[in-house]
Amino acid sequence: MSWEDNVRRVVPYTPGEQPRIKNLIKLNTNECPYPPAPQVAEKLKSINYEDLRLYPDPQASALASAISGYYHVPMDQVFVGVGSDDVISMAFMAFFNSDRPILFPDVTYSFYDVWANLHGIPFERVPLDCDFKLVREGFLKENGGIIFPNPNAPTGIYEDISFVEDIVKNNPDVVVIVDEAYIDFGGKSALPLIDKYENLLIVQTFSKSRAMAGMRIGYAFGSKKLIGYLQDVKFSFNSYTMNRPSLEVGAAALQDDEYFKDVCGKIIKTRERVKGRLRELGFDFTDSMANFIFARHRTIPGKDIAGDLRLKGIIVRRWDADRISDYLRISIGTDEEMDKLLIALKEIVA
Ligand code: PMP
Repeated sequence: MSWEDNVRRVVPYTPGEQPRIKNLIKLNTNECPYPPAPQVAEKLKSINYEDLRLYPDPQASALASAISGYYHVPMDQVFVGVGSDDVISMAFMAFFNSDRPILFPDVTYSFYDVWANLHGIPFERVPLDCDFKLVREGFLKENGGIIFPNPNAPTGIYEDISFVEDIVKNNPDVVVIVDEAYIDFGGKSALPLIDKYENLLIVQTFSKSRAMAGMRIGYAFGSKKLIGYLQDVKFSFNSYTMNRPSLEVGAAALQDDEYFKDVCGKIIKTRERVKGRLRELGFDFTDSMANFIFARHRTIPGKDIAGDLRLKGIIVRRWDADRISDYLRISIGTDEEMDKLLIALKEIVA
């Protein structure tokens, strides 16, 4: 008998690397290439360090009410957490407690199976079709809950609201979580559906479109009942998930809608321009509606391209996984960064 016999063994999620190399073009973790809204800088300057001796508001009211106001959703239908990773992990704990497997796509955010394993939740992967689209029928079998990102990651493929509604409507006995981490880059949120379906949780984040991955702010919307259950789990786990600066800075980030829309618009424009150039260089890709492009070269293995890019100081994300090992997930950077990427790719595929 050893103490190690009592250790919970898990296979952890592997986050994209965060190297501290100067002049690196970092296109591997879907961060925003532009800074957060100017109000964030102002707010940061005004934070009194002496206040850090005090615990933050456990209800995270300043942030939750700012989100409530921005999205026109009552406060008791808003939940906030330390990035959407924290929100989703709490939601797994709160809502996926059946003996039946939860369902998620076979190609999707690779944290879902890690959380399922951590929380002891059985799961089944629903295969995407040959174009990497979600298959409706796959989500209509008996299950203990459903989660999928929309747009899906890492494919970037967006399904319209009628598809989401169809899945939710046909699964009234379980909670359906729609992970909208990338919704602001051209998709339309399924948020209005929370008024119609008590079992729908919509999760979003400040990490991508609001350029605040470093602050760790995620949030969710759902029926009052659903959010109540999520709060109960949170308060059984850690009352003070959100630190004081992130509550204040998060609220400030919502003040400048023009800036927000401008940043999203720039990223979309760059994405569409880069798609055209990639095609000329011999790449195939999905029609991504996210802040990344999921692309594969018609003849050169993904591993080789990723390795060559790295030698040129550019990092992208790639997985040694079934069906997608030749694909690169390329985050959308500034136009200047993307031009450097295109020059590097041109040399590599020549
Ligand atoms: N969902 C998806 C689909 C993602 O790609 C990510 C980013 N890794 C997240 C959730 C988590 O993002 P965050 O915790 O920064 O909000």
